[in-house]
Amino acid sequence: MPTYNYKCEHCGTVVERILRVADYKKPESEPCPHCNVHGLRQVIHTVGFTDSYSLGRIQPSDEWKGFIRDLDRKNKGNAGFTTW
Ligand SMILES: [Zn+2]
Repeated sequence: MPTYNYKCEHCGTVVERILRVADYKKPESEPCPHCNVHGLRQVIHTVGFTDSYSLGRIQPSDEWKGFIRDLDRKNKGNAGFTTW
């Protein structure tokens, strides 16, 4: 499964979560583990994408993220993203 990073807008703590693609928004509704304030926002830096992504040369576009969501939906939430 892909790894997602979330940064607290209140204290700056970065939280790393391993989630299914379909669940990547969920931590944004959870409180920060450090300051307990609801302010986590996804950081668009995704470990576990292709080399180009992990090297930071390419940022995933909304179109690309939509493609991933569609792919995940077609695979009933079990797309094989671990192979990326
Ligand atoms: Zn915080």
